[in-house]
Amino acid sequence: MRPHPAAFPHQDGTPTPPRPRRTLTVARDSPSRLLRCAQLARCRQCGNRVDRHTTAGPHPVSLHPGELSVVLVPAHYRWHLASGVAYPAGDGSRWCRIAHSTVCPMTAESGPLPDCLRALRRRLALRTRRLIDTTGSTTQPSPQYTAPDDSDCRPQRPVGQLLHTRYLATRPVEQIQCTAQTRHRTRCTQPVLASGTTPGRWTLMPPTPHHHSTRQLALPSRDIAVYDLTHLAHSEQIRRRTQRCPTHAATTAAPDLALADWEPFDSLLHHALTATRLPTNPRPHH
Ligand SMILES: [Zn+2]
Ligand SMILES: [Zn+2]
Repeated sequence: MRPHPAAFPHQDGTPTPPRPRRTLTVARDSPSRLLRCAQLARCRQCGNRVDRHTTAGPHPVSLHPGELSVVLVPAHYRWHLASGVAYPAGDGSRWCRIAHSTVCPMTAESGPLPDCLRALRRRLALRTRRLIDTTGSTTQPSPQYTAPDDSDCRPQRPVGQLLHTRYLATRPVEQIQCTAQTRHRTRCTQPVLASGTTPGRWTLMPPTPHHHSTRQLALPSRDIAVYDLTHLAHSEQIRRRTQRCPTHAATTAAPDLALADWEPFDSLLHHALTATRLPTNPRPHH
């Protein structure tokens, strides 16, 4: 923290002129708009703490909190951070980060781990065991594996289509909240689907929009429920994707306090999460 200038007068005793207070802001050329690049979270499988970071690719990554000496970590396990973005390599320094999945005790080992990482994995396994002993589970029910609610056929993880791309949300559309920081330094509580804004249209669509994809061959042909936003103006689709309420959509200076709830939809990977009925018409096939 920068010391208060008045506390350090010049050597002749005259006080230094007070400097204007600076506000923490996001640099204009920053690839991330997050004020705090690491988003504290818990692993959905083992319940241990992780730092979520944006990456150069479409998916964020969960890193193990804290740095490790590169002496202990083989090169292919190393990650580093630059300007708030995580990259899967070392940065030439003596320290590095590792992906939580490397040491997550609830996922299978991808290969033989060095002693240091094996010991870390054992420590995390102990914490997971303690968590299960005290609370009965590692974490709250994972939205990733929540089945669609049959009572209203409303997907807990809706598939959205906007800006020529399919996305998978981490929560129901109505619960997606603005990520911007308010003037009170707290996260804006407004929903992105604020009153007065146009909702998307639930539509049954083929599981993949890319009809020439070779992956399509492996997919079932049944249509899935998609929250279609493509009828909205381009600027409005950008607002939904950047996850801003109408007020903060225009305030580009406001940094983000959370990662967006959208991730690119993969028709193979996320197939089990898709709904084949429309929420507004619960039993169209019956
Ligand atoms: Zn884990
Ligand atoms: Zn807002």
